[in-house]
Amino acid sequence: LVRIRGLRKSFGGQVVLDGVDLDVHQGEVAVLLGPSGSGKSTLLRTVNHLERPDAGVVEVGGELVGHRYHGGRLHESGPRTIARQRAGIGMVFQQFNLFPHLSVLDNLVEAPVAVRGVPRRQAAARARDLLERVGLAGREDAFPRQLSGGQQQRVAIARALAMEPQLLLFDEPTSALDPELVGEVLAVMKDLARSGMTMLVVTHEIAFAREVADTVVFLDGGRIVESGAPERVLTDPRHERSRAFLAAVL
Ligand code: ATP
Ligand code: MG
Repeated sequence: LVRIRGLRKSFGGQVVLDGVDLDVHQGEVAVLLGPSGSGKSTLLRTVNHLERPDAGVVEVGGELVGHRYHGGRLHESGPRTIARQRAGIGMVFQQFNLFPHLSVLDNLVEAPVAVRGVPRRQAAARARDLLERVGLAGREDAFPRQLSGGQQQRVAIARALAMEPQLLLFDEPTSALDPELVGEVLAVMKDLARSGMTMLVVTHEIAFAREVADTVVFLDGGRIVESGAPERVLTDPRHERSRAFLAAVL
């Protein structure tokens, strides 16, 4: 479903992505590990074209994201195409990023109505189903500030699902949570993985990676230094940088 080839990105003179190739197959979960500054967030952000790559391509669902070929050359797509493509790629951030002035229900209803033109009643009905799915039935009328961090993050996941994405990106979704709230968010993510959602997840939760990931990918200095099945990569890392990283987080 996701095909990344030769991705490069620099900020100023600093190379942040140094030729990344990565595939995530339909229905699979890839967990991205790596030290701070290795380029994990930048890689995630290029997948939905929040960052524009300097070189290389990202394809999601067989479609080039953010670019099109014209006359044998790559050109950036127009804003409407990019907006349509982003609408099919859900993203969940460390800091939840809910709309603080909207109720939980309205957080979920907003984008389907505004971007997809879904009738409001239909979007609301679907939003209630999604809230039930993430264990928040009955909290439709709460505002984000009235919820715990774990509840807010589950609303953020439900909000991403409200757009019926073909792919979900998670950038350290549990890193801002108190330890006792991490489990409820990981449980929702596990449930999603089991339901066949394709997911690319940046996390330091090694137990989650071991249990849920189909592939674990180590990024270091903007390069993939190692990737493979979690049992293999997490128990017997071959690259010195991934060994050092695992030794530090485990
Ligand atoms: P962390 O684990 O701390 O979240 P990361 O692996 O997600 O790290 P990135 O956020 O992708 O790393 O950043 C990689 C490097 O790129 C860092 O050195 C960062 O300072 C730099 N960087 C990221 N975004 C920008 C930007 N918009 N402008 C300039 N530099 C940036
Ligand atoms: Mg990051």
